[in-house]
Amino acid sequence: MTRTVVVTGSTSGIGLAIATAFAARADNVVINGFGDSAEIEAIRTSLEAAGGKVLYHPADMTRPEEIADLISTAADRFGGLDVLVNNAGIQHVSPIETFPLDQWDRIIAINLSSAFHTMRAAIPLMKAKSYGRIVNIASAHALVASPFKSAYVAAKHGILGLTKTAALELAEFGVTVNAICPGYVMTPLVARQIPDTAKARGMTEAQVKTDVLLKAQPTREFVKAEEVAALTLYLTSDEARQVTGTHVSIDGGWTAA
Ligand code: NAD
Repeated sequence: MTRTVVVTGSTSGIGLAIATAFAARADNVVINGFGDSAEIEAIRTSLEAAGGKVLYHPADMTRPEEIADLISTAADRFGGLDVLVNNAGIQHVSPIETFPLDQWDRIIAINLSSAFHTMRAAIPLMKAKSYGRIVNIASAHALVASPFKSAYVAAKHGILGLTKTAALELAEFGVTVNAICPGYVMTPLVARQIPDTAKARGMTEAQVKTDVLLKAQPTREFVKAEEVAALTLYLTSDEARQVTGTHVSIDGGWTAA
């Protein structure tokens, strides 16, 4: 069955790997996110290689009206919505007392509120089909904290609560809602925070990789974006229809400690 899939923040990193995994099944995929328009068009056409249709929508995840348009465009273009992956996310690393106010607002908007807005628009479409799969890309930071990431940790903890609430509201409508909690994946989001973390902790960038990032992961290896994508596919499968209202960690053992 060809499904219609929306993946927010899918021009890079984990979201791109997730969009790629669905496109490889010849699903119809709506990609979203920022970036160079020629590069995004190259991604879009390459994802169509397996036979599905791929659409790019530029909705800014800080803007509820653009988010509503993303969902309605997917539904209008492909006749409904089957899978929603809330993946867009940003990070800012700073002690609370100097945390810039605009960064706090942006992180809460993109990493938490955007998932509320996509779900608010997607739920009526999924209820109408008595079918849907919602996967929220949370983080190990939805379960445990690290210093200097107050907004990110707050947003990611919040998205687990939103996941559980939505799962309960949709349990009798054939719609599952789950979260994935990855440990560190070497994407542009992680690469960008290394210099700031080095500054905040008074370390070199190499020390941040070994003594901060991979120190948290007992396997001492980064998670691969493709591994997060494979888990996303599972959570959207028929076999996972009784998996709802929960999170799955993919963190090299980080949160076992
Ligand atoms: P990334 O920076 O590679 O990709 C982020 C994507 O979100 C990009 O496509 C970007 O354009 C998009 N985006 C950013 N702001 C946006 C906005 N306002 N509107 C629309 N799109 C926007 O990051 P990533 O590491 O792939 O992160 C993806 C998700 O995975 C995030 O939610 C992040 O918190 C989560 N995560 C990442 C890691 C990791 O180690 N990389 C670990 C756990 C969770």
